[in-house]
Amino acid sequence: MDLEIKEESSDPKEDVETTGSKKEENTLKGFSGFGFSTALLKTIEKKGYTEPSPIQKAAFPELMLGRDLVGQAQTGTGKTAAFALPILERLEKNGNNPKVLVLAPTRELAMQVADSFKDYAAGHPDLKILAVYGGADFRSQIYALKKGVDVVVGTPGRVMDHIRQGTFRTNELTSLVLDEADEMLRMGFIDDVEWILEQLPENRQMVLFSATMPSEIRKLSKKYLNDPAEIIIKKRPQESHPINQRFITLQSGHKLEILKRVLEVEADESIGVIVFARTKVITLTIAEVLESSGYNVAVLNGDVAQTQRERTVERLRKGGVNILVATDVAARGLDVERIGLVINYDIPFDTEAYVHRIGRTGRAGRSGEAILFVNHREKRFIRSLERAVGQPIEQMEIPNNAAINQSRLDRLQAKLSKAAVTGRDHEEETDLIKDLLQKLSEELNLDPEGLALAAVNLAIGPSPLLAQGDENWLRQPSPRSRRTDSRENGQNYRRRNDRPISPPEENMDRFRVEVGHRDRVKPGNLVGAIANETGIQGRMIGRIHIFDCYSFVDLPKGMPEKTFRDLKKLRVMNRELQIQKTS
Ligand code: AMP
Repeated sequence: MDLEIKEESSDPKEDVETTGSKKEENTLKGFSGFGFSTALLKTIEKKGYTEPSPIQKAAFPELMLGRDLVGQAQTGTGKTAAFALPILERLEKNGNNPKVLVLAPTRELAMQVADSFKDYAAGHPDLKILAVYGGADFRSQIYALKKGVDVVVGTPGRVMDHIRQGTFRTNELTSLVLDEADEMLRMGFIDDVEWILEQLPENRQMVLFSATMPSEIRKLSKKYLNDPAEIIIKKRPQESHPINQRFITLQSGHKLEILKRVLEVEADESIGVIVFARTKVITLTIAEVLESSGYNVAVLNGDVAQTQRERTVERLRKGGVNILVATDVAARGLDVERIGLVINYDIPFDTEAYVHRIGRTGRAGRSGEAILFVNHREKRFIRSLERAVGQPIEQMEIPNNAAINQSRLDRLQAKLSKAAVTGRDHEEETDLIKDLLQKLSEELNLDPEGLALAAVNLAIGPSPLLAQGDENWLRQPSPRSRRTDSRENGQNYRRRNDRPISPPEENMDRFRVEVGHRDRVKPGNLVGAIANETGIQGRMIGRIHIFDCYSFVDLPKGMPEKTFRDLKKLRVMNRELQIQKTS
């Protein structure tokens, strides 16, 4: 019988409804009723967990019995411990080959899950846990696998490579977990995942976690899971740690200036900020501009090597970097407590990406702020984002000079009062400085106020403290006409009958595919094939213009590289699409 947990109240401990014969488990307090060993209970205690989260309460009994399980839950619900604790507890160490495989969509998540497994396995130091992912040294992974590993956490591509090479033997696997399955689908890994599933022993426990349940994931679960228990946790993580969400309507050309203004009033050195941009090139431009304004900035995009990426995240964690400019894929799973503000510089690819982005703040029980930049056309997507997060996204004004100046004065005051209260670490230096001030006031005949002013001026530096530039442009003129936009896009294609075709919408890119009227292709053929192959939902596919030998298809911006590669080889009406971006 399936077990369904529905959690709709904002308090995760209430409103948990179970069906079937499991009702008594709700009354369990703490972690003591699940059959965990004393060693594991000690580890849990050391982690500071006192109560299992709802998903854990529901998953532990099922997984401890060895059942398959499908869980619909998001990051932040405690889902990693929900599968890791019972799996570790049931792990029988014999032979040298891996017993547990966890597949995760990104290296960040793989590393994070592997770290959690290591934490939870503290009572069993003999257990070996290894993260394998692309971009990291292959040989050291092979070496570790050869020496013997019990739990492998990896991204599908790299795991597949190791299985193919024979360096990862799957014959002793007893448990498999697909973590963030919908994300693997979205990133185009689903074929790799299926290939891996085909290589596993028939008799194994399988667990699938996904934030959403698109039909492809349901199909996968039907095909590979054996009478799984089903758990649905409807709670969104931000309900327990509220993230205040706002949006600013702007013209695309003003984005950088507005970003600087927002940072001035919304951020200070005590918090970390992530700015999300759609492409690598944009991340670099933003970082350059912010760096020249004096911020400590780092970039995280697909071009950043793994070792560098780990160093960057560490610097962000420790406060050496305050602003991270990132693309979606590069920032997946990032868990840094001091992130207090997320700025969506470019609107995300879809609602799931938005939920993930804003979830980078409000970590570990803190509250967080999220600000979304939209142009006039993108404004219409806000409703669906609000529906996805179940919270309103409020309109925010572009900070004007008065707001910026107030914020600068507040920061100066805070810095001065901190300096006055804490003083200097080195007493002898303080005495020398006092002597120096005494000498100065005598030489220049200055009173204490004159001296203090000189010191504050020195601290402020030569640039003016207050912003006084023109701010007329902040008064939001009406959206630019479509004609201007189309000229700017540089897309002025014409059909053979010489009527121009409209440019793609702002959130879309236009692609050329090598199939046309001569192949008797209809829009439905293209929509069906692209939707099937990429998981892009049919309604997300934009305008289609068919010409004799080729066609144009508008697809949402920010297509993952892997999806693009798959589309290139896709055949429609017996022709390879050979898809190419038109600009
Ligand atoms: P996850 O949803 O797996 O990403 O977990 C989110 C956060 O919750 C992680 O920082 C975990 O360490 C923490 N966590 C997991 N289970 C519990 C629990 N029962 N009590 C308190 N914190 C927990």
